Amino acid sequence: MFKGILIQKDDAGYRAALQELDDSALGDGDVTVQVGYSTLNYKDGLAITGKGPVVRRFPMIPGIDMAGTVEHSNHPDYRPGDAVVLNGWGVGEVHPGGLAQRIRLKGDWLVPLPAAFSARQAMAIGTAGYTAMLCVLALERFGVTPDHGEILVTGANGGVGSVAVAVLARLGFTVVASTGRVEEADYLKSLGAAEIIDRAQFSEPGRPLGKERWAGAVDTVGSHTLANVCATARYRGVVTACGLAQGMDLPATVAPFILRGVTLAGIDSVMCPRPERLVAWERLATDLDMAKLDLITREIALGDVIEAAGQLVQGRIRGRVVVDVNR
Ligand code: NDP
Repeated sequence: MFKGILIQKDDAGYRAALQELDDSALGDGDVTVQVGYSTLNYKDGLAITGKGPVVRRFPMIPGIDMAGTVEHSNHPDYRPGDAVVLNGWGVGEVHPGGLAQRIRLKGDWLVPLPAAFSARQAMAIGTAGYTAMLCVLALERFGVTPDHGEILVTGANGGVGSVAVAVLARLGFTVVASTGRVEEADYLKSLGAAEIIDRAQFSEPGRPLGKERWAGAVDTVGSHTLANVCATARYRGVVTACGLAQGMDLPATVAPFILRGVTLAGIDSVMCPRPERLVAWERLATDLDMAKLDLITREIALGDVIEAAGQLVQGRIRGRVVVDVNR
């Protein structure tokens, strides 16, 4: 038996609870892992609260991330005792996830825990941090360098936003952090933000083009915010879009793309090919200051997850939440 969060949906409604589970709750796979740490991402918040259609099979153990130790393996790349990390691949959505003390899954989905990180640090980063790095890699791929000008990060107090601010600042970019919580300015400055701006200026319908400002952007918010960020990107600026905290819609015009050559780069972490994941994790090892990661992170127990998920979807959690599944 092991402990895990279980989401059920039936005549009694949609609900999540901490439960004692047996191996029948595990999915198929060639590797079984003893989970050390998991984490709470926005998507986990949506899954646990039922506020978004994340879970597509019931009952489901949520948790799109985990770090742990291989217990049993029929996969040629992994042996018992190996330290591993999982991000995405539909785990916690269609395949039982990481918010439990055990997980069984395809070894092909795992990456070895990078030597630079403990299991706890890898989960402090989690999908949120690895997605922030995918955004940074996309900015680089499209040629954005620090001398091009300011980089905007929206949803800056969130998990993706906090890691993006820290990494971009360390790489020498001038980072402007957009947030609804301007009272957290000291936190964002300690991560390396040069300026804090109120997200309200992006939240409402805007003009097709505005004053050019951003050489690049990491947008975690979507909707009017993303439209306004594109409209205020500089000539040939690059906007990476990874999130939908404001909404799934994109009420924009093509003006920034056809008149200013702005690039809108989509970022997906879930099905991202393994070679790119490995690069992202390698770069996190060099470009994310571990002292900053500590500032970003707080730890909770498995029993605290359901309450924290509710706070997360209300935008009340700052930075990243690590879950010690054995406490
Ligand atoms: P968090 O909940 O940690 O952060 C989201 C932040 O968005 C909040 O902290 C808040 O920042 C801001 N926000 C919330 N509601 C609104 C709103 N109505 N209008 C404007 N801003 C808002 O989530 P994560 O950082 O984990 O994820 C951020 C987004 O990225 C989510 O939409 C998530 O689904 C997506 N994501 C996508 C991935 C992919 O593969 N494409 C992978 C990981 C995440 P503040 O208080 O600073 O304003």
